[in-house]
Amino acid sequence: MKEIKYLDNCGILIASEQTLLIIDGLRHEKNAFGAQSIRVREYIEKRLKRFEGNCIMAFTHTHLDHFDDSAVYKLIKDDMVDKAIIPRDDELAAQCVEEAADNPKITLLKGRTEGTVTFVINDMTLRFFETKHLKFEGYDHVLNYCIEITVGQERYLVAGDTDQERLKKILDQERHRIDGIFVTPVILGKPKWAEYLKNESIRRIFIYHLPAAEDDRFGYREFAIRQQKRYGRTLPNLNLLLNEMEVIK
Ligand SMILES: [Zn+2]
Ligand SMILES: [Zn+2]
Repeated sequence: MKEIKYLDNCGILIASEQTLLIIDGLRHEKNAFGAQSIRVREYIEKRLKRFEGNCIMAFTHTHLDHFDDSAVYKLIKDDMVDKAIIPRDDELAAQCVEEAADNPKITLLKGRTEGTVTFVINDMTLRFFETKHLKFEGYDHVLNYCIEITVGQERYLVAGDTDQERLKKILDQERHRIDGIFVTPVILGKPKWAEYLKNESIRRIFIYHLPAAEDDRFGYREFAIRQQKRYGRTLPNLNLLLNEMEVIK
């Protein structure tokens, strides 16, 4: 990878020589983690405009804290995005699903295959593992894609809101080296779940999907800090992403 940057909350930017990928980078203003700052929005637009290769937007799922349908569609219409890979969910991805029928730039992941979908975009390979969403009331039917990004020998996993048990399954089956994995603090909620991350093949663990301090109504930040202390010894490779626009590579 040429560059990896944590945008904010669950937004990640990954650039290779030829491909710029933004995962879950635009969130809807009506989401539980607070509205996105104008600074991050403008930064995303600037990067998309200036990049000379292909610009891809991908989404783990279409909950409002990961996806803003009209903002994504506008970028596609303005020719700033070459391809948007969006999990299909009839209720949540309303506008993009409607437009996808006649827009070749939008690829909908239809789901219910329990398999993986692979995209090769120049020097970058993306694998979408179909998983279930973290168990919260009312989310039983929601799919979530855990996205693997490979460039050359480097490999990263962005879990989004992947259910703990499904994440374990992926980590058990993928025996090759993972340079970094991005997971929500929820995965540290029980010692058994934290144990899933104790895996020799994972070099660095990033706890992301954390709101800004002023938007943290549910105390996620404090929870994450507490858990980092709790698992500091067993998971010394744990990093908290508490600040927007943090450079990872
Ligand atoms: Zn979600
Ligand atoms: Zn989420």
